[in-house]
Amino acid sequence: MKYISTRGQAPAQSFSEILLGGLAPDGGLYLPETYPQFSAADLTAMRTMNYRDLAFAVLSRFATDIPAADLKTIIDKTYTAAVYCHVREGDNPEDITPLHTLEPNLHLLCLSNGPTLAFKDMAMQLLGNLFEYVLTKAGQGINILGATSGDTGSSAEYAMRGKQGVNVFMLSPHGKMSRFQTAQMFSLQDPNIYNIAIKGVFDDCQDIVKAVSNDHAFKADYKIGAVNSINWGRIAAQIVYYFKGYFASTTDNTQQVSFAVPSGNFGNVCAGHIARMMGLPIKHLIVATNENDVLDEFFKTGVYRPRGSANTYHTSSPSMDISKASNFERFIYDLVGQNAAKLQALWSSVDQGGAFDLAAQGLLSKVPEFGFQSGSSNHANRMEMIRKIWVDYGLMIDTHTADGLKVALELREADVPMIVLETALPAKFEESIQEALGQAPVRPQGMEYLETLPQRFEVMAADAEAVKQFIKNHL
Ligand SMILES: *Cc1c(COP(=O)(O)O)cnc(C)c1O
Repeated sequence: MKYISTRGQAPAQSFSEILLGGLAPDGGLYLPETYPQFSAADLTAMRTMNYRDLAFAVLSRFATDIPAADLKTIIDKTYTAAVYCHVREGDNPEDITPLHTLEPNLHLLCLSNGPTLAFKDMAMQLLGNLFEYVLTKAGQGINILGATSGDTGSSAEYAMRGKQGVNVFMLSPHGKMSRFQTAQMFSLQDPNIYNIAIKGVFDDCQDIVKAVSNDHAFKADYKIGAVNSINWGRIAAQIVYYFKGYFASTTDNTQQVSFAVPSGNFGNVCAGHIARMMGLPIKHLIVATNENDVLDEFFKTGVYRPRGSANTYHTSSPSMDISKASNFERFIYDLVGQNAAKLQALWSSVDQGGAFDLAAQGLLSKVPEFGFQSGSSNHANRMEMIRKIWVDYGLMIDTHTADGLKVALELREADVPMIVLETALPAKFEESIQEALGQAPVRPQGMEYLETLPQRFEVMAADAEAVKQFIKNHL
């Protein structure tokens, strides 16, 4: 299996070759040359598999340059009940992503049982083990530089801690993350993890990462890498749980299901789109946004108009406060018939801060062929949904999952199972749960006193040169 760029101007590469990188050299995103296909017979064989075997059945079609036995070992050590241990009472940790049924044909697929209590651990834990494997084999190292407002940074650090050949330098806005998120990251004592608290906001952190990455000599000399949401390995790993959710909610492969996905960078739902292209019987993929509704606007009007940071709201589902969906290009590539020239023409305006209008080009009518629908919600909707799910089903959900459920309930069809992806546990967003329910969520075992643990971090000015110097001094 080779990977090509959506912009069509980069050489085809193998899975291992694109694993450590971000954008393709032509500025596009990598996609497999063709999507592997799963026949009815394949689906029948997969229906009874456990999570690890299912992950191998899917990922072995993508990572064809990693020997099967090695890939199996990596998957088997990643997807264990010990790693994904924070399941709700009554759910089976051996399921890895338990399906929690609220009522007939309405389910939550619980993806947030990993070490940082958000769905990003589903892919990031695999990525940590894949990185270590590929780097050890090549006798190389990597220094990951990232910026985080909360979830991504902690997920990356918990995946990379103690890994051979990997260092992590993670920038976060000083004093701007929740106490829980701060403690989660800063309490890590592993020598290969460096937390840098920048005196500024998230955008300042992001700008420093960009400035360092644009210093090509520094980037090459110090082997600077990234684990951002466009990484193909992350998308591939996320495809697996769509299969898992499908099998857990149906009894035979003639049935269709729909998924509702709380969305920001379009990474999670992009994996669902690819699962559907591979033959998984998905009826609808429902993109749920918060007040930052760039994607909802696109699916309703055909206009894709990314917004600047001045027009990006800080909401109570902060991990979806995104106004430029970095993975969206992968879907549009398929929508325009995998025509790289056409894709490039559309993004030439987006890359210059502009927009495009697919309705005007007669392409909006093709969207239903791909099963997409959308909706959005606001703070009041989230509070109401958290209360409703608590009262009706005795289940506590977080604010992001509430965005998904709100839209799912509006769009669900009577005879089609609706699976809402749970993207974080409520314990991560204590203040919002307190506001909605008048009580705090129960902390998972071992995290009760997280904020009292000793913290290890460096406070620095928003200065790219100072960050470069810090990296030099610590290698
Ligand atoms: C990252 C994140 C999302 C958004 O996922 P995308 O892949 O960026 O669309 C939603 N909810 C939570 C809790 C997240 O951490």
